[in-house]
Amino acid sequence: MGKKARLIFTRTCLKHCDGCCMRNIPQDAPREINIKQLVNYQEICITGGEPMCFHRELKDLIYCIKKESRIHRRKPKIILYTASPYPVISFIDILKELDGCTVTLHDDQDKWEFFRSHLNFIERFPESSLKSLWLNTFVSFSEKEMSLCTAWKVRQKKWLEHCPLPEGEELVRLKGLNI
Ligand code: SF4
Repeated sequence: MGKKARLIFTRTCLKHCDGCCMRNIPQDAPREINIKQLVNYQEICITGGEPMCFHRELKDLIYCIKKESRIHRRKPKIILYTASPYPVISFIDILKELDGCTVTLHDDQDKWEFFRSHLNFIERFPESSLKSLWLNTFVSFSEKEMSLCTAWKVRQKKWLEHCPLPEGEELVRLKGLNI
């Protein structure tokens, strides 16, 4: 078992990125596990697809992971991967329950929407400094844009052809979760 579980929460996504990795992952490729096995990982990265398409179900899932972790005296870090941290109020509500989040900006439209919606992020969520917040971007930032990302660590990314899974990570799906 790897140290990190990359949990495919859903395959649904409203974007249609040319280099999307999901197209190359067969339906049954992620190993199917139950929640007890899931909380044995040191870190759980919830990804998709776009998890925020189902933010209520996502909150339920995080609640279940935490409950199961308490039962088995485990404390996995829970991280969300999203390209759509909206509505901001729902995103902050979910972020409160997480150890961190990686937001990925795939194109200029994503960047524009992020700056428009998250400009007063720190005022709305003063606890942001307690979280691990990464902003992955496939588009470049000006110095002024960089200076606006105070709550976030910015990481410039390049599309990779076969989306190799980082060492120590395992691609999993959860038994009974079909969204
Ligand atoms: S946002 Fe992510 S999951 Fe959605 S199409 Fe783009 S790469 Fe794929």
